[in-house]
Amino acid sequence: MKILADYHVHSDFSTDSDTPMEATIERAIELGLTRLCFTDHMDYDFPKGYFEEEKPFEFDVEQYIRKIEDMNRKYGSDIKILTGIELGIKTNIVKQLNGLLGQYSFDFVIASSHLLDNYDPYFPDYWETIQNDSAQGIRNYFKSICENIEAFQNFDVYGHLDYIVRYVPDKNFIYNPDEFQEEIDEVLKTIIKYNKGIEVNTAGLKYGLPFAHPHSKLLKRYLELGGTTITIGSDAHKPEHLAYDFDKVADILKESGITSYNIFENRKIVETVKL
Ligand SMILES: [Zn+2]
Ligand SMILES: [Zn+2]
Repeated sequence: MKILADYHVHSDFSTDSDTPMEATIERAIELGLTRLCFTDHMDYDFPKGYFEEEKPFEFDVEQYIRKIEDMNRKYGSDIKILTGIELGIKTNIVKQLNGLLGQYSFDFVIASSHLLDNYDPYFPDYWETIQNDSAQGIRNYFKSICENIEAFQNFDVYGHLDYIVRYVPDKNFIYNPDEFQEEIDEVLKTIIKYNKGIEVNTAGLKYGLPFAHPHSKLLKRYLELGGTTITIGSDAHKPEHLAYDFDKVADILKESGITSYNIFENRKIVETVKL
C-alpha cells in the first residue's frame, strides 16, 4: 500500500463517534500508516431537532489539541499524529470560523457542507422541502458549496464534494456527474480560483457505492481545470474503517490521471507523494 497517511479521521470528540483516539492510533500503527490526521467535527449553529445535544458537533478545542499532544508523546515514535479539523461551513458563521482559526493552530482544515438551507440532507425533511426531487437536491448542494467558498476561504481542502448522493430519497436514482456538469464545473472552478484542494474520501466505497467522493469524473475534471492539491481520507468514525479501501483508491486515482497526493502540516503542503 502506497497510501500511508489518512487525513480524515474522527474520534469521540465528534458527536457521531465513540472511538477514543488511542483505538484508532493503535489500528493505524497496525496498518503501517505513518501519519494520521484527526479531523473532528466542528459545525457551528447546527439546527436544533436532529440530535439531543444543545450544540451537537462542537467540541472543546483546547482539550482536543492537548489530547493530540499527549498522543504524540505516547505514540510518536511509531506514527505522526496531526491536528486537523472538519469545519461544517455555512455563510452565517464565517466570523466564528475565522475566530476559531485565529485562536488555535491546526495542521489541516477540511471545509465540508453538512447542511443545505439549514437542513441536514442525511434526514428526509430536507428532501421533503423539494418534493423529494433527487437531482434538484444534488444541484442545490453543489450551488451551496460555491456560496460557502465565496464566503469562506480559510481552509485547505473541501471535503466529500458529492456525498449528498448517498442520501437521495429515490433509491433507483443513479448518479451520473455528467448531468450536473455545469454545477460541478462551477464548484471546481471556485475551489481552483482560491487555490484550494479537494479530498478523496473513501467513505463512498464503505457505503457500497462504486466510487469514492468525489466521483472519479470530478477528480479528472479538477485536474483538467488546473487543480493540483489532493488529500486522501477514510472519514473513519471507527477503527475498522481507518484507511478504508486505500489499496483500491490508488488505482481509482491513477485512472483519473492523479499521480500523487499531498501531505499537510501547519496548513502547508510539506510533501507530495507519488502513487
Ligand atoms: Zn463530513
Ligand atoms: Zn468527516
